[in-house]
Amino acid sequence: PFEVLVIGGGPAGAAAAIYAARKGIRTGVAAERFGGQVLDTMAIENFISVSHTEGPKLAAALEQHVKDYDVDIMNLQLAEALVPAPVPGGLIEVKLANGATLKSRTVILSTGARWRSMNVPGEAEYRNKGVAYCPHCDGPLFKGKRVAVIGGGNSGVEAAIDLAGLVAHVTLIEFDSQLRADAVLQRKLHSLPNVTVITSGQTTEVHGDGAKVTGLSYKDRVGGELRQVDLEGIFVQIGLVPNTEWLKGTVALSPRGEIEVDARGQTSLPGVFAAGDVTTVPYKQIVIAMGEGSKAALSAFDHLIRTVPA
Ligand code: FAD
Repeated sequence: PFEVLVIGGGPAGAAAAIYAARKGIRTGVAAERFGGQVLDTMAIENFISVSHTEGPKLAAALEQHVKDYDVDIMNLQLAEALVPAPVPGGLIEVKLANGATLKSRTVILSTGARWRSMNVPGEAEYRNKGVAYCPHCDGPLFKGKRVAVIGGGNSGVEAAIDLAGLVAHVTLIEFDSQLRADAVLQRKLHSLPNVTVITSGQTTEVHGDGAKVTGLSYKDRVGGELRQVDLEGIFVQIGLVPNTEWLKGTVALSPRGEIEVDARGQTSLPGVFAAGDVTTVPYKQIVIAMGEGSKAALSAFDHLIRTVPA
């Protein structure tokens, strides 16, 4: 069995595997797709100390760094169930879709999250070519340009406020007849001169010139008319979904489905830790996921040296 088994091979999982392996303990990583969300990212300009890199390049570097150590990498493996240790100090099991069962004294869950997409024509085609999901990451690329934010919940309204300070103009489009964000955020939003708020608007299509986004169409859900907005960027803010469907009923999850962790990355189950976008830790970013992954591995090591194996 493993001493530390990491599930998920994004920035959090890679950091956890390296920190665990550096303690000289038996470490494994099982991931559906090693690299995680980073594989879907183009320019990365906030990975501190690296002015500019690209997602696939960073993903390859993550894998190479893990391979510097004696880590058992199981790529293209989907975890389907977590079985807690039957007795304190016993082995935790992770069942894979291929029928295999992995056993370990500690487990670090780092299965990340996925952005909910609008599923309209043009969205996938212009992803990273004007269609963006992360204002902290891609906001500065649209300096002085016109953008839309899709979604009027807290994340959409926060994104609109954030972007309004960088870009020329923000159009916020909410599907419902009213915004759902906290009142204090809505007040701030309405005080900004370069923001237009559209409610009852259903985005129907992303337009582009073949190379980049040029606008979007939305349907006015009250009158039924189709309207077009010319712009250079679209930030989709309709939800970040944690990859925890397979954990329901085992570890404690927040109402949004994120794994609840304490300051050490400990979950509700002894010996099970979690890190990165899959947890309740706020701000979903690469540097944060790496820090949390490292922390979870140190916590797992601390747990191992204090626990007598059953
Ligand atoms: P993830 O990267 O989501 O990795 C999760 C891992 O778990 C993957 O290996 C996945 O295959 C695996 N997995 C999932 N479910 C299972 C399962 N059941 N069994 C086994 N394995 C599983 N952040 C920045 O800091 N800067 C940026 O510029 C930036 N740009 C971004 C651009 C885009 C388009 C996107 C989508 C995100 C961007 N982010 C950026 C956010 C950043 O990518 C994430 O915060 C970060 O990747 C989170 O790391 P993670 O390891 O927690 O999860």
